[in-house]
Parts: sequence; structure tokens; C-alpha cells
Amino acid sequence: MTPVPADSDSDLLARARAIHARVLTVDTHVDIPPDFGTETYDPREAKRGRGQIDLVGMEHGGLDAVFFIVYVGQGERDAAGYARAMADAFAKFAAIRRMTDVQYPEAISLARSAADVRRIHGEGRLAALIGIENGHALGRDLRLLDTYFDLGARYLGLLHNGHNDLGDSAVPYPRLKDTPAEHGGLTDFGRATVARANDLGIMVDVSHAAMTTALDAIRASRAPVIASHSSVKGVYDHPRNLSDEALTAIRDNGGVAQMVAFDAYLRPVSGERQAALRALRTEMGIKGFADFQRLSDGKREAWHARRQEIDREWPKASVKDFADHIDYAVNLAGIDHVGIASDFNGGGGIAGWDNARDTLNVTVELVRRGYGEDQIALLWGGNLLRVMEAVEGLSA
Ligand SMILES: [Zn+2]
Repeated sequence: MTPVPADSDSDLLARARAIHARVLTVDTHVDIPPDFGTETYDPREAKRGRGQIDLVGMEHGGLDAVFFIVYVGQGERDAAGYARAMADAFAKFAAIRRMTDVQYPEAISLARSAADVRRIHGEGRLAALIGIENGHALGRDLRLLDTYFDLGARYLGLLHNGHNDLGDSAVPYPRLKDTPAEHGGLTDFGRATVARANDLGIMVDVSHAAMTTALDAIRASRAPVIASHSSVKGVYDHPRNLSDEALTAIRDNGGVAQMVAFDAYLRPVSGERQAALRALRTEMGIKGFADFQRLSDGKREAWHARRQEIDREWPKASVKDFADHIDYAVNLAGIDHVGIASDFNGGGGIAGWDNARDTLNVTVELVRRGYGEDQIALLWGGNLLRVMEAVEGLSA
């Protein structure tokens, strides 16, 4: 896109504000901790440093619809591992449904279709959607996908970090003794899962999949697919980013690639910043996401303060870095096949868009780069809702 010249910042801001208020904004990936929807993480107004999103922040930031994520960490592929994954999945569904059905039904509603999203938005409320992250949540039992669909799941991320029974991951897990490529792509169970997702009207999500698995899944799916939170290797060659081949395959399949505002995927992270983050994690005994969730309020405040110091010293990627990925994807795949995701509460968030409250800043940068309102509406949710509608239409 060509930058917009001869405009003062205040003109640009006013124009961006007006566009942002009119378009329907959808963020396709927001994680939730296990205590979401309880006293320690009130979805309406989270304590400072507790999370990057709450309903007040969504309203303030003009973030209209969010896919809340039923995330399941990759574990052992045995009966105990599958049982744990299923239990983790049900707990996340319960947390999201507690927010929409029990705690704040007047503020946010569960959307089960693209039409629901538009209707709920039209009624002046926020929309919650549900995506699953990691097909490990199915164990080996495809009937669970029907159950998850009934609970509201509308996309299924086939993989997370670590290979599973559906296919190879973009990031193998040494802890689980992963080889670089275990299956060489999508497995027969993965194929059956894609077919069942198509039948039910669940969008197939190839983020976190190895490119081999992603390309297999795109070929196997009779409906358009999504990458719910991935940026592009064409700008920064990270294992989690989409290759040009995968991006064009998503275009040809009618799908959408949701660029993600995740610092480490957008540009190289300096050695100093990495070392500082590592030192902080060691000091506070944080080996993984679960340890972070268990921090006391006091320790979380301390963590938050130290993270801010590190961010000041060695800044995170900016909204401009993020928009570089959007530009690249639009140039390669076209404006109809690109969207936006934050990965808030899951490692996402960048300088300028580190909280739902700051969502306007993304639109400001898009306007600055010369995107018009129609294009911004597509990027901010129009494309995703079109794909969702197509997937619904092709369901059995
Ligand atoms: Zn993820």
C-alpha cells in the first residue's frame, strides 16, 4: 500500500477513528487462563497485569468479536494424556460459557454462526466465539468433535507445539521426544478429523501445523480453511509463520490467513531481550504457561513491572512491524484472504497493541498505509465471516 501523504496526524486519527467505529472487528485468537471467569480473572474488568483483554477493554478499544480459545497443551498420547486433554478442554469451554451465559450475558453473547456475530454486533453487544487450539483435545475419539461443536466450537486448530495424532507441528517438542517430522504431514486420523469438521461446519485451522501438514489439510478440506494466528515467512522466516506456498494455497482454497501480533514472529528478537526474558523466567520459576497462571497476585504484579522494564530497554515489535506482514500477505494473496489476530494471553501483544484497549492503533496504521474503509472492513473481520459462512454452507 502507498502511504497516505499530506495529512496531519489529527486528520488521520479522526478518519481512522470513524472507520474503526463502523467496521466489525474480529480477533481470531485470544487465550484464557484456567481461572478465567472467576474472582481472580473477572472477564468484565481484569486486575492490572492479569490479562490483556476484558469486556471493558474490548468496548473501549472497539474490539467487537473475539474467538476465545479452548487451548490444550500437547501431552503424552496415551489414555491418561487424552483424558487430561479432554478435561482441560471442558474446563475452558465452561469458563467461556460462564462468561457468556452466567456472568455477563447482557454484555457479551456466544455466536454460533457468522450471522450471529452480525446480529449480536447490531444489537450493540460484544460477540464471543470459540476456537479449539490443538486436535489433541480429541484424543483418538472423533465423536468428541461433535460434542465440542455443540458447546460452540467453530474452529479447530489441528496442532499446537509438538506433533500429535493428526499430524506434524511447526515446532516439535523435545520434551515429548519429537523427531523433526514424525508423520510427514497429515495422518489418516487428521484426514478423518478434517472431513468431520467439514461435515459439522467447523473451520479447519492450520496455524501451528508444519507446512507439510498445513498443505495436506488444505488439500483434504472441501471447505475454505483458516490460519487463525500466523504471520508470514516472506517478512520474517520463523517456523510458526506461513510460507508463500501455504499462503497462496489458502488463497486458492478461498480461505483466510489471520496475521498475528506476536513479537517473536514479526522480526528477529535481539539476543539481549531474549537473555533478559530468560533471566526473568528463571528468577520467577516460570518454565511454561501453566507456571505463569499459578503466580500469586503479588508475584504477577512484580512480573508485570519487570516485563515493562524489559520492554522499555529492548522494545517489542511495533504495529508497523505487524502491518508489514499484513502488507506482504495482501500483496501475495489479495485483500480477500488476510485478517487480524492478537494472541492476547498466549504470548501475543506488541508495542501499540498490547491490550484490547489499544485496538484502534491497528486501524490507524492501516489508514496511514493507504487502506480504504472497504479493505479495512475485510481485514478486520469481513474475510473471516465470509469464510465462516462458506464453511457453514458446505456442512452436511
Ligand atoms: Zn498458538
